[in-house]
Amino acid sequence: MFGFGDIVGQDAIKGHLMAAIEQDKISHAYIICGERLSGKEFIAKIFSAALLCDEEEGKPCGHCHNCVMSYSGSNPDIIRVTHDKPNTISVDDIREQVNETIRIMPYGGKRKIYIINEAEKMNPQAQNALLKTMEEPPEYAVIILLTSNLEELLPTILSRAVILSMRPVRDREVKKFLMEVEKVPDYKADICVAFARGNVGKAKLLAKNEDFDNIKAMSYSL
Ligand SMILES: [Zn+2]
Repeated sequence: MFGFGDIVGQDAIKGHLMAAIEQDKISHAYIICGERLSGKEFIAKIFSAALLCDEEEGKPCGHCHNCVMSYSGSNPDIIRVTHDKPNTISVDDIREQVNETIRIMPYGGKRKIYIINEAEKMNPQAQNALLKTMEEPPEYAVIILLTSNLEELLPTILSRAVILSMRPVRDREVKKFLMEVEKVPDYKADICVAFARGNVGKAKLLAKNEDFDNIKAMSYSL
């Protein structure tokens, strides 16, 4: 189990989300923006678990009924929007998975969370359909959009959401993570950090390579 403390860097986002949880001031829509592999899904997972956690403090606790379900990916109050076409989230995807289900009360009674990954793949019709829901969301609904490109989203969507931008993580923090959490040896950690340019997920993937040439080649393809 992991919590906000396991997020490497991203202090501004962590601070914002933890304060929102603590003060119980949750917005109906969030957009987490950052490059591929930067950890947007990881943050969304922790935030969602925290929103549904049964404990009073230290959310997400990691061990209550809701946390266990959240972390295993089986919490019915966390809906991950899927799409059949690899490059498009269509208006039907949004209607069927979001608009037509959002009025159904959450199972746990507290909150119902929708996570739309690669939100930039929503075409304008899909975004307009989502906008209708975002304009009058049920009290319990939280919509989290993850995207690598804010410019693909309509200004009307952007204006209704709290926008959280991922920042490159400092090299020493990435190195510390690689060495302490991923058990990567010192010399190799240095190489991966250099090629990852502040992207923790990229550093982690690069570290799986056996030799330097592979790391270098892979860093260009990620
Ligand atoms: Zn919990």
